[in-house]
Amino acid sequence: MSTNCTVVRLRLPGVDSVDDLGERLAGHVETCLTCQAEAARYRTLRHRLGGLSKVTLRAPSTLVPSLVFRIEHSDEEAASDRGVVIRRAAIAASAAAGAAVAATAGTIIVIGLRRAHHAA
Ligand SMILES: [Zn+2]
Repeated sequence: MSTNCTVVRLRLPGVDSVDDLGERLAGHVETCLTCQAEAARYRTLRHRLGGLSKVTLRAPSTLVPSLVFRIEHSDEEAASDRGVVIRRAAIAASAAAGAAVAATAGTIIVIGLRRAHHAA
């Protein structure tokens, strides 16, 4: 990839067409298959994004009441979220403690087996 390719790749997202890149870079695109493919991808992307403006989205009828409810009860949700975090921390701590107990038990078993092996 040449320096021109790198510059074209950086500037393509900010222009409407290859002609807006300037004479030198537009001339490069005319001769570079890599940059032509990149320009084609951006043309397709712009075309599809332009098509989105024709799409009408309707919010579900429950959206506004749901938002109002959440705003009015945001303090309760924050407290509930803190409770979830505390429960997750407790679970993680107990899992770590369980792993430590298992590791200790494994070490004791290994030491016991080595001692039994050396004694034999
Ligand atoms: Zn190129």
